[in-house]
Amino acid sequence: MKLELVPFWRHAGELLAQIPKASLHYVPRSENGPADTLAGIDANLAQFDEWPRQIPICERWVIPPPIEEEAEEEQSDEMEESFPISASENEIGDWREPVLNFLRYGTLPADLRERVHIRRAAPRYIFVNDVLCRRSYEGLLLCCLSKEEGLQVLKETYSGICGTHQAGPKLHLQVKRLGYYWPSMLRDATEMARTCKPCQLHADYIHQPLEPLHPTIASWPFEAWGMGIIGPITPKSDSDRQYILAATDYFSKWAEAAAYREVKATTVADFIRTQIIYRYGVPRYIVMDNGTSFRNRVMDCFCKKIRIQQRTSSAYNPAANGLAKAFNKTLCKILKKTIGANKKSWDEKLGEVLWPYKTLFRAPTQSTPYSLIYGTEAVLPLEVQLPSLRIAIREGLTTEECAQLRLAELESLDEQRLEAQQRFECYQSRMTRAFNKKVRLRSFQKGDLVLVVRRPMLFTSKTDGKFASKWEGPYVVQEAYTNGAYKLVT
Ligand SMILES: [Zn+2]
Repeated sequence: MKLELVPFWRHAGELLAQIPKASLHYVPRSENGPADTLAGIDANLAQFDEWPRQIPICERWVIPPPIEEEAEEEQSDEMEESFPISASENEIGDWREPVLNFLRYGTLPADLRERVHIRRAAPRYIFVNDVLCRRSYEGLLLCCLSKEEGLQVLKETYSGICGTHQAGPKLHLQVKRLGYYWPSMLRDATEMARTCKPCQLHADYIHQPLEPLHPTIASWPFEAWGMGIIGPITPKSDSDRQYILAATDYFSKWAEAAAYREVKATTVADFIRTQIIYRYGVPRYIVMDNGTSFRNRVMDCFCKKIRIQQRTSSAYNPAANGLAKAFNKTLCKILKKTIGANKKSWDEKLGEVLWPYKTLFRAPTQSTPYSLIYGTEAVLPLEVQLPSLRIAIREGLTTEECAQLRLAELESLDEQRLEAQQRFECYQSRMTRAFNKKVRLRSFQKGDLVLVVRRPMLFTSKTDGKFASKWEGPYVVQEAYTNGAYKLVT
């Protein structure tokens, strides 16, 4: 023990003697972390003289405690009473006080920096009819208000009788034009416009992406599928179906789709089994959105049983399932043009629409999905009707030569796939670069209050019509993931 601690030790011993069943033990500092920290906090607290005092340890307040709001309301009531504005009323901490003192009595504050500031600023102030005014650069006389009066004027200008909820800088200009001045008026105006709740709820959509693109890369056919639901489609088909389940392979862009009456968990599992697994084997993962038909107990069990990883994207981060979305769009577009007059026969045309999609030349891979899967191009009806060079050559070959040619094609398939992948990656990096130019980075932290875009974005008379808010909330960010995804709670 240190020598200077001995008096403390003795005194403690005397005090402890008065308490029965108490004793003093020596513990090395390294084994006494919590008590040591507490002692440190205690020493820091000693400099405050008002008690009791609340000390936040690690979490900060996300929502201001309701007491503050009440206090604000009380304040605004008081302010209404103290309206008409008069500069001679000096509140505590009023910024006008030092200027007034200087103009009236020639006295300056004690602080040196403030003295210089007052001296420099004083020529711009003038005392008219017992009201302190400030000469603006345009030569107007602006009536000086205390901060509280200023806020009252701002509130009236912003959302009062003639208020139009203008943006911050415009609001500031208007208040100035009305002939008022206080030092923090620009900041207060910006803050008022920024924190107005109706303005936030009806704010315009932000179309700039908030995160750079994170492309999904698959290295082999049928390794990863993107899945999505289209529908409900009106009109229903003749066989009463109104949904399309669609899946696209990430590597080759090969697509499968089927029409259903309703989409339940069992329907999705059935689709994966019959349309994907029985035809192309078990994929490594499936990217789907966060809808209830995809994320539920039946699906979780099903995917666990055959060891498929489920990767989900949310409705608010649709870019994560971009491939499925893009395919859905294309499918709808081709369907629309194919169905013709009988709009109820769309489910019968599905196969007709999928086929060209599979045999279409794709810019990203510089090849057709069909050739990436089978190593050769599909023979299209047109090629048979008007024999193409390819067909003509084949017809002249013997069976053995044909087999040889086919083997050679299959031999080069690996190379073709590798090339396609390289081209695709080049294409993706080009797209990513173009996309990232538009990105305006915005990110939120755990505990932030956020508003989210109201879905569906379409407003009909059934929803609230024209005056419906575009955003809803507030929600609290519970968890922030990478790639710009957030978990929100109310
Ligand atoms: Zn507003």
